[in-house]
Amino acid sequence: MTLSSRVESVPISGTLYISEIVRAMEKKGKKILRLDIGDLNFRTPDHIVRALEEAVNKGMTHYASSKGIRELREAIAQVYERRYGVDINPERNVIITPGAKFALYAVLYTVLNKGEKVLIPTPCWVSYEGIVRMCEGIPVLIKTEGEEYCITYDLLTKHYDEEVKAIIINTPNNPTGKIYTLKELREVKEFANERRIFVISDEVYDSIVFDGEHISMLDLMGLDEGCIIVNSFSKKYAMTGWRLGYIIANEDVIRSVNKVIQQSISCVPPFIQWAGYVALTSEESQEFIKSMIKELRVRRDVLDNGLRGIMNITYRRPEATFYFFVRIPYKGSSVEFSKRLLEEHSIAVVPGKFFGGYDNYIRLSFGSITVDELRIFIDKFKEAVRHLSS
Ligand code: PMP
Ligand code: GLU
Repeated sequence: MTLSSRVESVPISGTLYISEIVRAMEKKGKKILRLDIGDLNFRTPDHIVRALEEAVNKGMTHYASSKGIRELREAIAQVYERRYGVDINPERNVIITPGAKFALYAVLYTVLNKGEKVLIPTPCWVSYEGIVRMCEGIPVLIKTEGEEYCITYDLLTKHYDEEVKAIIINTPNNPTGKIYTLKELREVKEFANERRIFVISDEVYDSIVFDGEHISMLDLMGLDEGCIIVNSFSKKYAMTGWRLGYIIANEDVIRSVNKVIQQSISCVPPFIQWAGYVALTSEESQEFIKSMIKELRVRRDVLDNGLRGIMNITYRRPEATFYFFVRIPYKGSSVEFSKRLLEEHSIAVVPGKFFGGYDNYIRLSFGSITVDELRIFIDKFKEAVRHLSS
């Protein structure tokens, strides 16, 4: 029996692959310093958990609208209208998904015909390439320029041909922690508008910002121009396991995505959506985000100071997200380096190869590690780099 060649061509998820290995080691009693998967060690706030319990007790345990419960869609529309001064119709422009990952899948499934191309500036999140392939599209990875990982109109133009249907922008960026500048995003808009291609803007880290300000693509580009926003509750409210996200797009895109939802998952569990509604609309959530950012900022600074003292590694200091993308002085591959780091030094990271082929880099996540553990990590990592690069 043979399996579908469509799925055979899909690469594994680098982050989930590493975290499975680490979990198996931990199960055997091994103590690992975990800077691998992009998760958070903050508990989902109590008021959100309580909202879920109330929703279950109220009987929100049956099928809901495939587009999502109305309260949540209205709340999302209001947040964006307030923040960006744009008109968003909760009925026609918003749909609820099980996380941003499925949102991206549903969007690309909706937008792409077989063999059409998607431009993906790199370094990029591990799953873009795989999702495009699952939708029978062709990912075109574009190496951004210089140490600032810049996107320019000219760079995008060099990679354009008639088969290109969309571009994925991820700001703030995983794995670099960079917020794309207004100039860069304007060039993306100009490039996309001239060629009438979709801009899929993944903004899941929009509230995890330490310096500067996140700029949404929606601030520059209308939904009718092909701007599609993908966002999620995972990071903002420490809700990664809840699987709740959404898409904001023009009516045609939402109508098509709705068919994908109807024919795949029917709907996102309504009690999860209700908890999301409470997360989005309550004051306590703002307090929670503030305190989470405060703690993450401390971790970012501790890691920055520590890494600065390690010879032969370089990185760009992240102004957002909870990642550092670090260039390593190792002659072999990033997978081999990460494997040795794990086996010989009990440190888990994600190899740079998975972020668009950056084989002399690794990604460090500080979302799930305490400051004390970070200090231990820095000492051990310093020793490991010296040992592995000699
Ligand atoms: N986009 C990026 C850039 C991510 O890092 C992630 C992982 N959180 C996702 C999308 C998917 O997020 P979700 O948990 O909402 O599926
Ligand atoms: N997005 C997170 C990461 O980059 C979570 C894992 C995943 O879904 O890829 O590590």
